[in-house]
Amino acid sequence: MNIALIAHDQKKKELIDFVKDNEKLFSKHTLYGTGTTGKKIMENTNLHIARFLSGPYGGDQQIGNLIALGQMDMVFFFRDPLTAQPHEPDISALMRLCDVHSIPLASNKATALIFLNIL
Ligand code: PGA
Repeated sequence: MNIALIAHDQKKKELIDFVKDNEKLFSKHTLYGTGTTGKKIMENTNLHIARFLSGPYGGDQQIGNLIALGQMDMVFFFRDPLTAQPHEPDISALMRLCDVHSIPLASNKATALIFLNIL
């Protein structure tokens, strides 16, 4: 599967720990990520992440592009619901495209844990 990994700053540690704890499962898939999230996951695991731009600079839209093209199978996007994000329109657009194309989207750890069952 092609899987996207994205986390807002306050949620990066949670996503990195989650991926680290399940590294063997994630290693079976092709992983994509926004710039900083992807870099930090690679620094903390042996996984390779194909990195796009940082989210606020267009990374979310680049991942949205792959979703629109039918080239993304699952998205882990640990959002920070308590901090205003300058690129909120991009975040909404990414989530909207997941719904348009019926792509599973885990926006928090509880959902992500359930998604592990199908990795
Ligand atoms: P980042 O982007 O991984 O480059 O921090 C994530 C985001 O804010 O969408």
